Amino acid sequence: MSDCIFCKIIAKQIPSEFIYEDDKCVAFKDINPKAKTHLLLVPRKHIASVAHMDNEDLALMGHLIYTAKLLGEKNNLPHYNLQFNVGKGAGQEVFHVHMHLMSSAS
Ligand code: 5GP
Ligand code: ZN
Repeated sequence: MSDCIFCKIIAKQIPSEFIYEDDKCVAFKDINPKAKTHLLLVPRKHIASVAHMDNEDLALMGHLIYTAKLLGEKNNLPHYNLQFNVGKGAGQEVFHVHMHLMSSAS
């Protein structure tokens, strides 16, 4: 998706430091953090939102949650929230599906 900011970040057309990456997803710090630790976990595949997921995306979305667990361990986070905003009314601003990992710990 040429006009998608997260596709551009993933393609490194916009400089951004990945704190984690593999063949399926990347993770980077939110530019406008709403918690002490605020990471975004983003699949490389462009899916507009959870509402646009297909059956074939189940493993990918599971991988995203499992990656959050690993990042929680790696960063010694004792607790955190995982959040998807789905739709404009719920506050979704970027229409490339992503999971927020937020923690009051750092
Ligand atoms: P949403 O509201 O769509 O669930 O979350 C989008 C998030 O992406 C927001 O928390 C916003 O601060 C973050 N964000 C938007 N543009 C950029 C960017 O260019 N770089 C980074 N690191 N975060 C961004
Ligand atoms: Zn995208």
